[in-house]
Amino acid sequence: MITDKKRYYQLLFRRLFNLFVSSLHVLLFFILIFLVSFNANSQDVKVSIYNGMGIKSIMITPTSGEYEIIADNNSLLRIIKNEIIQLYYKNGKVGIKSLSKSYGLYNKIDIKKLSRINSFRVKPVIPSLESRNYDGWLSISAKNNYLLIINIVEIESYIAGVVMAEGGPESPLEYYKSQALLCRTYAIGHKYRHKSEGFELCDGVHCQVYKGMNENIADIEIACEETKGLILVDKTGKIITAAYHSNCAGETVNSEDVWSSSASYLKSVKENYCKKSPHAKWETTIELDDWKNYLKKNGFAGIDSLIENDFEFMQRERHIYYTLNGDSMLLKKIRGDWNFKSTLFSIIPVGDELFIRGLGYGHGVGLCQEGAMEMAKQGFNYKQIIRHYYKDVNIVKY
Ligand SMILES: [Zn+2]
Ligand SMILES: [Zn+2]
Repeated sequence: MITDKKRYYQLLFRRLFNLFVSSLHVLLFFILIFLVSFNANSQDVKVSIYNGMGIKSIMITPTSGEYEIIADNNSLLRIIKNEIIQLYYKNGKVGIKSLSKSYGLYNKIDIKKLSRINSFRVKPVIPSLESRNYDGWLSISAKNNYLLIINIVEIESYIAGVVMAEGGPESPLEYYKSQALLCRTYAIGHKYRHKSEGFELCDGVHCQVYKGMNENIADIEIACEETKGLILVDKTGKIITAAYHSNCAGETVNSEDVWSSSASYLKSVKENYCKKSPHAKWETTIELDDWKNYLKKNGFAGIDSLIENDFEFMQRERHIYYTLNGDSMLLKKIRGDWNFKSTLFSIIPVGDELFIRGLGYGHGVGLCQEGAMEMAKQGFNYKQIIRHYYKDVNIVKY
């Protein structure tokens, strides 16, 4: 009897132990899933800041948190709030100094965050430019006689900074959400644009304008949080080219009319939302002689035999080509060469000058920002705004 009981307890113990071991596997599995998803949500991007501005020297000051400065992989010093360090280009290397001490020249300086909440101010000294506030951390090296300054920042924080730079301070929440979705889609879709240069995105119009962290606009934080991890894909599941522009003047443009490629979702749409917005109209004046010389340089024949009124050119709806006297050229080339705000312009000759009257601002493809702002003010939500400007797209988790 005693042996039976002993055996019973042995069996029970073994079963319980086996149960514990198998549930340990399950537990470990869930911990792993949690860690993987945590890492996926905290993805960083590498953004070259003050990109292409020829920075020779900068000052860096933490505005919150603590940072460790690592020079060529060796810890050099720690800095806290309000302490200042200066980094400068010299002889193909990066120099570093504090107010009282010089630390020498290195190939690479990393300024790594040591705290969870952290931010710092960057002030370019040579050339002297406006200071900006960033979070994340910095990696600085020398490149082509200048400093290459890379901000490594959590993607959602970068998105909030881009939405602030693109959307301004007082726009409606649903517009901010649509802009956050586009900025995130663009960032994910173009992460390899600058790979050969050692970073992922630049902070200029070439990629997306990014002037540091969003600090004060609560609606941008809410917009990013509520669309966190969401991007736009086309009907085949491919990440879309998330093109947007300032003002379409009532009609967006087919992508094939601006770039060489067409896309099923970037088709011209008409709208009445942006016609009274700040960038709906523009005007400029150019010399008739300058225009004549420009046309001759671009292969237009018989220009000198034309009279002043022959240079009148009217666009009541969007054209792709400018035509005169049997010759033609792309309006987008004229826009680029003359820095016009859009290709939707008319030309009115007045004496020896040409009066240029234009509508809209930007290439006109994809979402019209001022139209989207007006739609949001009229009560449309961000999904309705997105679907108005892009055909057959889906919003998915990346
Ligand atoms: Zn770029
Ligand atoms: Zn518009």
